This record gives sequence, C-alpha cells and structure tokens, in this order.
Amino acid sequence: MSIVEHQTPSSLSEAYQLLQSNPDNMIIGGGAWMKLSHPKVNVMISLEQLGLNQILETSIGVTIGAKVTLRELETSPILLALADGVLSQAARSIASVQLRNIATIGGSIYGRFGFSDVLTALMVLDPVLEFYHTEAMTLNEFLLLKKPPRDILVKIIIPKSSRVARFKKVAATALDFPIVNLAVARENEQFSICVGCRPQIAALAKKAMREASNRLTHTRESLSRVVELAVEELHFSDNFRSSKAYRRHLVKVHLERLLMEVTPIEN
Ligand SMILES: Cc1cc2nc3c(=O)[nH]c(=O)nc-3n(C[C@H](O)[C@H](O)[C@H](O)COP(=O)(O)OP(=O)(O)OC[C@H]3O[C@@H](n4cnc5c(N)ncnc54)[C@H](O)[C@@H]3O)c2cc1C
Repeated sequence: MSIVEHQTPSSLSEAYQLLQSNPDNMIIGGGAWMKLSHPKVNVMISLEQLGLNQILETSIGVTIGAKVTLRELETSPILLALADGVLSQAARSIASVQLRNIATIGGSIYGRFGFSDVLTALMVLDPVLEFYHTEAMTLNEFLLLKKPPRDILVKIIIPKSSRVARFKKVAATALDFPIVNLAVARENEQFSICVGCRPQIAALAKKAMREASNRLTHTRESLSRVVELAVEELHFSDNFRSSKAYRRHLVKVHLERLLMEVTPIEN
C-alpha cells in the first residue's frame, strides 16, 4: 500500500470534496483490509474528526456511525440488547480482538465482501444506510447495486423492532474466514433469512421468507419446507474453502436449527 498524503477533514463536506477531486483519493475505515489489498492512494481521507464513532439509541431505532469498530459492535450494551445481540455475536466471530479494534462497520459495508459476517447479521435487521450525498437506501438495495456510489457512508440506522434473531458462522478454525454464514430473525409472523459466503455476498432468501411468513404457526415439517426453498433459491459455488455441495449441506442443517430457535413449534 502506498499513500502520498493523509488528511483528516473537519467536515463531511470537506471530506466529500476531497474524495471527488481525484479518483485515487480514498476514504479509510480502519484500513485493515486496504493494507492487505495494497491500493495506491493519493490522499487517504480519514473521518476520525467527524464524530462517526458512536452507537446511539433514538426514538426510531439504533444509529451506528460508520467509524464504529467491530469491537464496539461486539461490546455495546445497546447492540447486545438488540435482537438477541445478533450483530454483536457476528462481530465477535471475526478474527482477533486486535483486528476487531481496528476494522470498522463502514469499511465492512463498503468493502461488500462475500465472506462478511457483519453483512449477513445486519441484513436480517433491515438497516438503512445514510450517505453524505446519495439518497439513503436499505442495505439490501446497496448490496444489489452493481457498483457502490463514490460517496461517504455516514451512518447505519437499524429500525426499532421486537425481533428475535440468531447468527451462525461455520469456519475451519476460530480465527478463520467463514465457509458459510447465516442469520435469521422473526418479528411476530415476519421472518428474515440471510445466507452469506456461498461464497457470494450475503443475500436474503426471499421465497423462503415468504413461505415462513405466510403461516401463523409452524411445525418441524413447515420449517423443513422453508429450508428446502432457501437452499433451492440461493446460488452456491465452490472455492478453495469449500465445495458447493458442502456449503449447501451446512446451510440445510444450520438454517433448520436457527429457525427452530426463533420459532415456537406446534406438535
Ligand atoms: C486478517 C483479516 C481477517 C478477517 N476476517 C474476517 C472474517 O472472518 N469475517 C469477516 O466478516 N470479516 C473479516 N475481515 C474483514 C473485516 O471484518 C473488515 O470488514 C475489513 O477489514 C474492512 O474494514 P476496515 O474498517 O478495515 O475497512 P478499510 O480497509 O479501511 O476500507 C475498506 C473499503 O471501504 C471503504 N470505506 C471505508 N469506510 C468508508 C466510509 N465510511 N464511506 C465510504 N467508503 C468507506 C474504503 O475506501 C475501502 O474501499 C478480516 C479482515 C482481515 C484484515
């Protein structure tokens, strides 16, 4: 990685102008991934003077600044109390404390990594992303864009809800990247199901979500049908970490377990 200059603007408008002024200028989150991907950067724009490192509970939900680290996601009492702490749990599963003290939620979202544990857990919380210039959009909309806007992610807003949720990461070792990751959430009869690292980026299993949300009550058989639909509609591939068949198998087993944990079952 080579950096010509490092600047810490004192306003978002200044940071945005710097970003637009040269295609080789870049925003830095924690820089953990950038360091590995070796970009050549003209001006590295640091957002640390802009107060984006806070997690706040408001009347509409929970707001997370883009500079909040994964360690702060993991340990925040506000997030530990939100949807069974699903986001904290996903953050805790990532690499080491040292890495989590550096890596940010903004970099994790803008990186749009297929392996991301944070994205999978966030997706079932239906967050809205706020940018400096671009109109706000849901995380799902952002991940479906071919290319992210050249903009600054300012904050993430998780709407208030009474969701119950679970996250599962399957990896070869505790510190490794995932082979696959999954998250589910239920709020009354509405279900969200997300699978990441297939190895493609986190995606909602929309048909399975509709099937699950169509019923007032569930049995083990009805949840098995939901799992079958999810595995059918999502695309899985091989890579050096796992075969497509093994990923599919893992999702079948763990999705059924997670659904059972969040759903009252009728015998
Ligand atoms: C050794 C290692 C192991 C890892 N293991 C895992 C793992 O098991 N599971 C997992 O989910 N993740 C893992 N990660 C990824 C990590 O969790 C972060 O997602 C990653 O480091 C990116 O976060 P960052 O803050 O370092 O971003 P950076 O490297 O600083 O930035 C990444 C990208 O986001 C852009 N960016 C950053 N902030 C903003 C913003 N506010 N607005 C606009 N653009 C922005 C940057 O310009 C850059 O393009 C690992 C990373 C490393 C280095």
